[in-house]
Amino acid sequence: MKIINHSTSHVLQLTTPIFPINCYIVKEENYCTLIDCSKSGTAKSIIQAVEETQLPLKYIILTHAHSDHTGDIQKISAHFPDAEVCIGKKEYIDSQNNVHNIRMPIEPNTLLFEGESIGSLLVRETPGHTNGSISLIDQRTHTAYVGDLLQSQGGLAISGDIRWLFPFPAMATVDKQLAIESVKQLCEKETLQYIFCGHGPVTIYSKESFARLITRAQKK
Ligand SMILES: [Zn+2]
Repeated sequence: MKIINHSTSHVLQLTTPIFPINCYIVKEENYCTLIDCSKSGTAKSIIQAVEETQLPLKYIILTHAHSDHTGDIQKISAHFPDAEVCIGKKEYIDSQNNVHNIRMPIEPNTLLFEGESIGSLLVRETPGHTNGSISLIDQRTHTAYVGDLLQSQGGLAISGDIRWLFPFPAMATVDKQLAIESVKQLCEKETLQYIFCGHGPVTIYSKESFARLITRAQKK
């Protein structure tokens, strides 16, 4: 995996080659948080990257429970037994009922709700890609981790708006209209600067480009 150090956002971005899948290690003062777990076969690289921060891993947070985000969570969790596994409450309920291929390979320790904080990260419920997807906003740097609500691989797009160079997140989206609504809400409620998504490079937020993105998605 390739590791990109975005020191301005307190984050390490871990990306798989060829088919790009991101997960993130967010550094706090005394610990770190892993956001998403990439795909299976990546546990060793993720564990090594966490250990190299020399910070204890306190939380493993999943933006949603597709297999390219849950990855080897059992192995990672077994290696860091003190880390709390967290997921949005709605996503967990869907995993219990086998809705839309949502599957949790491990029992979470904590279910997350709209508006709560985990260290510097504020939880926002941003449904659309899946019913229970969440985004996490780092209040220190106005950095949003949005999972697959947005993609930047193959061109920036809201989940459900197909980019033919990388159509996969759009194809796995359950409610396109709801995804647009979630992006609108995020732009209205939050001050945003950097957007980190599940697939593709970091995006710098601008009001104009996101207005265009919403219009583009609505037209489809
Ligand atoms: Zn997904």
